[in-house]
Amino acid sequence: MMEFIPYGRQDINQADIQAIIDVLQSDFLTQGPAVPAFEAEVSRYCKSQYALAVNSATSALHIACLALGVGKGDIVWTSPITFVASANCALYCGATVDFVDIDSRTYNLSVQQLTIKLKMAKKEGKLPKVVIPVHLCGQSCDMEAIYKLSQKYDFGIIEDASHAIGGRYQDKPIGSCQYSDIAIFSFHPVKIITTAEGGMALTNNQKLAEKMTLLRSHGITRDPKLMTHESDGDWYYQQIHLGFNYRMTDLQAALGVSQMQRLDKFVSRRHQLAKHYNQLLAELPITLPWLHPDSYSGLHLYVICLQLDKVEKTHKQVFNELRECGIGVNLHYIPIHMQPYYQGLGLQKGDFPRAEKYYEEAISLPLFPALSQKEQQYVVDTLKKVLQP
Ligand SMILES: *Cc1c(COP(=O)(O)O)cnc(C)c1O
Repeated sequence: MMEFIPYGRQDINQADIQAIIDVLQSDFLTQGPAVPAFEAEVSRYCKSQYALAVNSATSALHIACLALGVGKGDIVWTSPITFVASANCALYCGATVDFVDIDSRTYNLSVQQLTIKLKMAKKEGKLPKVVIPVHLCGQSCDMEAIYKLSQKYDFGIIEDASHAIGGRYQDKPIGSCQYSDIAIFSFHPVKIITTAEGGMALTNNQKLAEKMTLLRSHGITRDPKLMTHESDGDWYYQQIHLGFNYRMTDLQAALGVSQMQRLDKFVSRRHQLAKHYNQLLAELPITLPWLHPDSYSGLHLYVICLQLDKVEKTHKQVFNELRECGIGVNLHYIPIHMQPYYQGLGLQKGDFPRAEKYYEEAISLPLFPALSQKEQQYVVDTLKKVLQP
């Protein structure tokens, strides 16, 4: 039998290792030159004005919400099919969270559902302060349409692009913030590029960038322009907000710079593997990922949905049998409104039926740049055996 094949895995080469060693032998392990270099690299690639490295995408989401003024009494909407961090960030700020059901083709937040929900919310005086579209699997949401709605209903937009660095929408890089206030990336090892832990917030808005810069480091500034009075001397700094220590280290940032050199290669390899899956799995009773012609997905995940009416087994049986054969399939994600914590806040099973249906059918197959042809063939052969014994 094959060795265990995970659903995602980092790609680390000698250049990455050397980049970290170089930092270890330098003067700064943190707050040195690697962090701004990484920010400049990502900002250049994504064509955003500003990019702020932080210690995780979760932190990036938190300071993005705060920068947009999310607080007590506010409402934030996101997709129920995402990692819990996309919603938790609003709760950290004391706001309330609600969800918009998904599109049954892309599994992203549905613009149709968003439109209906906004109309109702307007009548009830419960419009969201911020909407957080999540680019599930790396494929952009319909950002132009969401942006138009934001103009009409006056809400801010944070793109949770944790899955999507290297992807494009309407031929612009995801992260350009063309249709959003802020976009955030994750650099967790399963994501497209990694810094071990790490995240980034991108924006074209100077005020938001300044606010997030303060928030990521204790709310402290050394910039005389931001101080309430003239500096006491060279040692002086002022705390002007309540911030956090959400900084990225130079070790991580150096790895990030090194990984950025291979970003396009990573994404095109993911596309090559996905295309191969599409061909090899075409005859099976499963729904393959649908890719929108306007967008080039980062392809963080390759999610299939079982056509359960044509399969003799349950979703769980299929999942377990694949795991028993050493294939690290996964499920992205459990609908957030079905998490006990969120049910404690008043959300209920049945609230978002498309998300729940997706949860009953979805399986993420292994997809990462170093997945070999032999491993991919093994995944395909095993899936065929499991579905058509
Ligand atoms: C991974 C992920 C996050 C959180 O990223 P961290 O860097 O681990 O904090 C947030 N949202 C989505 C959609 C993710 O996949």
